[in-house]
Amino acid sequence: MTKILAIANQKGGVGKTTTSVNLSAALSELGKKVLLVDTDPQGNATSGVGIDKNNVENSVYDMLVEDTNINKCVLPTEQDNLFIIPANIALAGAEIELVSAMSREVRLKYAFKDLDQEFDYIIIDCPPSLGLLTINSFTAANGIIIPVQCEYYALEGLSQLLNTIKLVQRHLNQSLVIEGVLLTMFDARTNLGNDVIAEVKEHFGDKVYETVIPRNVRLSEAPSHGQPINVYDARSTGAKTYMSLAEEVVQNG
Ligand code: ADP
Ligand code: MG
Repeated sequence: MTKILAIANQKGGVGKTTTSVNLSAALSELGKKVLLVDTDPQGNATSGVGIDKNNVENSVYDMLVEDTNINKCVLPTEQDNLFIIPANIALAGAEIELVSAMSREVRLKYAFKDLDQEFDYIIIDCPPSLGLLTINSFTAANGIIIPVQCEYYALEGLSQLLNTIKLVQRHLNQSLVIEGVLLTMFDARTNLGNDVIAEVKEHFGDKVYETVIPRNVRLSEAPSHGQPINVYDARSTGAKTYMSLAEEVVQNG
């Protein structure tokens, strides 16, 4: 069985891509076979695993809009067990092009059914919006991981996200669940972080992962080297916390 997880929050800069890349890499280090799917036109997950996004033959755009076979879009990475379907700026038009397409909400789900290789996990990095790309991810997924940045107004905007999840559950994917809520960019030097953790736990209870991702400069450096954190600096707190997140994700089944 493949577990399909969408990493989503329509707010930008909360750690979706950092989590997608490093959770995927940590899972693959635990011996799981992982497919990372980049659905953000910025293509940061793609470059984050060392793929030149402007030089890919087939991307998620070709798959979703042009009906290119998914197996032609899967690329290996430097890391064993870690594969990616890349994205780049070509995807920016997809939200609009998909509007008039047949089965526009279920294209990603159907594409996954054609995969030749069997993966333990598919991790989808969502764009910072609740448009058709995110809807496709929610329709294809078993669960959603919501990264929440430890800052003032952390919960702001989440009701819109939860509403979209409810709509997808009602109309497109009844078995979709919130897999977990991940607190990111925690700064131990301020009280604010602890207040936010308490607030988010009050809201989401045991959905909140025990692992909290700290603010860690190594995590922000790694993408410019095209490496996940476990390759760039395995001893950093960033690498250790993403590994413990991966263990929690595996434990939760
Ligand atoms: P999103 O995909 O939600 O827009 P990103 O993962 O791209 O967010 O993160 C936004 C910025 O914050 C990036 O520059 C990233 O390198 C940085 N960042 C993310 N998580 C951390 C962290 N735990 N510590 C330090 N910097 C981080
Ligand atoms: Mg991103």
